[in-house]
Amino acid sequence: MEHTYDYLIIGGGMAGDAAAKAIRATDASASIGLVSAETSPPYERPPLSKALWKGDKPLESIDLGTAATGAQLHLERCVQTLDAAHRRASDDQGDSYRYGRLLLATGATPRQLPLAPGERVINFRTVEDYRRLRHQAVAGAHVAVVGGGFIGSELAASLAGAGCRVTMIFPAGSIGSGRYPPALAAFLDDYYRERGVELLSGTKVVDGRADDDGVELALSDGRSLRVDAVVAGLGVTPDTGLANQAGLAVGDGVVVDATLRTSDPHIWAAGDVANFFNPSLDRRLRVEHENAAVEMGAHAGRAMAGAGGEFTTLPYFYSDLFDLGYEAVGLLDARLERVEDWSEPHRKGVVYYLDDGRVRGVLLWNVWGQVDAARALIAQAGPFDAVSLRGRIPHDG
Ligand code: NAP
Repeated sequence: MEHTYDYLIIGGGMAGDAAAKAIRATDASASIGLVSAETSPPYERPPLSKALWKGDKPLESIDLGTAATGAQLHLERCVQTLDAAHRRASDDQGDSYRYGRLLLATGATPRQLPLAPGERVINFRTVEDYRRLRHQAVAGAHVAVVGGGFIGSELAASLAGAGCRVTMIFPAGSIGSGRYPPALAAFLDDYYRERGVELLSGTKVVDGRADDDGVELALSDGRSLRVDAVVAGLGVTPDTGLANQAGLAVGDGVVVDATLRTSDPHIWAAGDVANFFNPSLDRRLRVEHENAAVEMGAHAGRAMAGAGGEFTTLPYFYSDLFDLGYEAVGLLDARLERVEDWSEPHRKGVVYYLDDGRVRGVLLWNVWGQVDAARALIAQAGPFDAVSLRGRIPHDG
C-alpha cells in the first residue's frame, strides 16, 4: 500500500510526537504520517525508570496523545529504505510512503548485553522493556542492573524501592563516574550501599545464560552471579542507518543546520539522532535527553511547516536517585575543571564545570528552578573562577 503525506515523521518517540503537534499547530490542514517500530503510540520515556516505580503515575498516563493531532500512526513498522531523490520511504511490511517533507526522529538503539535478550534479560529502552522488568521485579527478586549511567542509577534506586535485591555491575570505579566530581560519586556509592544496593564496580558482564528460573551471569573478574533477572543501560548508538542510506551528512549522528535541516532540503532531524550546533557552547552536540527531544522535535516541526528560526536552546536534563535529585545543563564532564559550591555537602549545592575560564556545564544538585540561570551563565564569555562562581546561582529558589 502507498501512503502520501505532506509531512512524514519516522520515529515514534518524544521528538516525533512534539514534531507532529508543532506541525499541526502551524499547518491546520496538512496531512501527517508517523511511522514507529514501537507497539505503543508515542509516550513519555523518563517515567519508565523513575516516576512509574514510585506510584506517582499510572502507566496509561504516559501516553502523549499524538493521535489528537490527526497524524496517522503506523505502529510496529520499521522503515527500511529511504530514497531522498524521489522523496519516498518503504517499511518492512511492504508499505511505501511519499512525502513533501520528512523528519528523521529515529532515536537510538541500546547497546546489548552479551547474552540473548528475553523475559529475564532486558536491554532497557521502551515501555515493553518496562512491562517485562515490572513483571520480574516482584518484592524479594534479585535483579542485576548493568551500567552505572542514567538508566543504571535510576533503575537501581527504583528496583530497590520496589523491594528487590539489587546488584549493580559497572566498569568504572563508581556510579556516575566521569560525570560527577569524584567525591560526589563516592558519596553516591555509599548512599546506594546504605540503601541495600550491592555495587560491583570495575566489573563487566562477559557472558551469561537465562533459563526458566533465572539468569547465570559470567563476570569479568571470573566470578559468576545467579539472579532472577538482569537489566542493562549500557548507553545507546544513534540510529543513522536511513540517513546514511539517503546520503545525508552524518557524523556523530545526523548533521543538521541551525534550523535542524539535514543536508537534504526536504529532510529535518531531531532528538537523540541529531547532531546540532549550540551557540552558547560554540560547538556541535548530540543530546540524549527528554528536553532535547521535545524542544528539537517542536522546533523541527515548526521549521518543516515554514515557521522555524534558528534552534538555540541548550537542553537541560534531570535525574532522581532515591530521594536525591538534580537538574543539569551543558557538559557534565568530570575531566573539566570544577568549582563545587555546597550549602550541604553532597546533598545540596551547585557544581560548575569550567574550560579555560568559561562555564561549560552546571549541575544543580537538589537545587531547583535555576536551569535558565545556568543556561545564561554558560552563554557568558567570562572569564570565571572559583571566587566569581561561588554563590552565583542561589541554592534556594
Ligand atoms: P549512559 O548514561 O551513557 O550509561 C552507560 C553506562 O554503561 C555507563 O556506566 C558505562 O560505563 C556503561 N557501559 C558501557 N559499556 C559497557 C559494557 N560493555 N559493560 C558494562 N557497562 C558498560 O547510558 P544509559 O544509562 O544506558 O542511558 C541510555 C540513554 O538514555 C542515554 O542516552 C541517557 O542519556 C538516556 N537516559 C537519560 C535519562 C535522564 O536524562 N535522566 C534517564 C535514562 C536514560 P562507562 O561510563 O565507564 O563507560
